[in-house]
Amino acid sequence: MSGGKRILAGAVNWLPAARRALINVCFPRVCRVCDVFLPEWEPHSQYGEWFCASCEKQLHRVEPPFCARCGEAYDGAIQGEFKCDNCAGRDYDFDFAIAGYHAEGAVRELIHKFKYGGDLGLRECLGAMLLTALDDPRFASERLQDWVLVPVPLHGARRREREFNQSEELCLQVSRARNIPFLEALRRIRSTGHQASLTRKQRLENLKSAFEVKKAFRGESGLLAGRKVLLVDDVFTTGATTHACARVLTRHAGVEKVVVITVARG
Ligand SMILES: [Zn+2]
Ligand SMILES: [Zn+2]
Repeated sequence: MSGGKRILAGAVNWLPAARRALINVCFPRVCRVCDVFLPEWEPHSQYGEWFCASCEKQLHRVEPPFCARCGEAYDGAIQGEFKCDNCAGRDYDFDFAIAGYHAEGAVRELIHKFKYGGDLGLRECLGAMLLTALDDPRFASERLQDWVLVPVPLHGARRREREFNQSEELCLQVSRARNIPFLEALRRIRSTGHQASLTRKQRLENLKSAFEVKKAFRGESGLLAGRKVLLVDDVFTTGATTHACARVLTRHAGVEKVVVITVARG
């Protein structure tokens, strides 16, 4: 190699490192959970762009065995499909619910920052975490592009206060990543307040007639008739909210089936 070419090759090898260093100086990245600086621009792992290695270790995937209906995970070895004790006496209007991660530690913190702290910048990483719910083998034979994403709606007043609907933002991420259409088909017509402290029974009572299907999506001639729906929310806790949404979708929008996907399982 001639001297000129060698200098040129050296400069070309050096350029990406220099560019990374410059990006790091101009846009220092911090861990989205603990705010520690992330030293390298190149991520150390799948989520390394957003988390330090120690916080990433706190993200726990929902892995089998889990309830085939509500996605509640169990310790120990259970072979084959099973339903948990909670689901044995319950009738949900969705087929099944599946979450990407356990709603604990870092995951709980991230969702809290996103939802109540107004940190909209977290939508991409939470969207990526939600996508892992679609790894469930029950989707393997499905053409998900034929399904429709529907977000759990917020009441108008809550939405104005929060300035965005976390479920809609998550839907958008999945829609872009997997090319699945996204329709805001539901409306929350009654404010149900904060439900975190309520039991499942109280939540169900509280959610009665809280949701309706928007006009364009109603009935057999509506845009959702005969379609399969991926109902999207941030966290699945008792399933009361998603059950109430699935109920109006199947009863008033002619939806064939509803599957709930969430970032986390409470
Ligand atoms: Zn961290
Ligand atoms: Zn269950």
